[in-house]
Amino acid sequence: MPVYFLPSTREEDEWAAYMMKDRNEPCWLCKRERRKTLYGYMCWECQEQKPVWQAHLDAINKAEGERRERAYKGYCYSCAKTWVEGTWECEPCRAEWRA
Ligand SMILES: [Zn+2]
Ligand SMILES: [Zn+2]
Repeated sequence: MPVYFLPSTREEDEWAAYMMKDRNEPCWLCKRERRKTLYGYMCWECQEQKPVWQAHLDAINKAEGERRERAYKGYCYSCAKTWVEGTWECEPCRAEWRA
């Protein structure tokens, strides 16, 4: 029996099925292209544009992170002792990061 007929694990089967399916899905980013990079989920065009849209996503994530930090009210994330508002950490903890 050829080695590739040997029974595979369930995980391998699922992974293989996912990869096969994924290969036929359009690019996750632009939803247009199907000519994707090997084992990638993006088309070549999007892959090449990555620095552009990655910067865009980073900016969105950063803005979202800052928005959540401004809305935060609770104990300091580092020491969990001091109550803070509009920030993740109390002043002494922030100072420690800077040091
Ligand atoms: Zn694309
Ligand atoms: Zn603290």
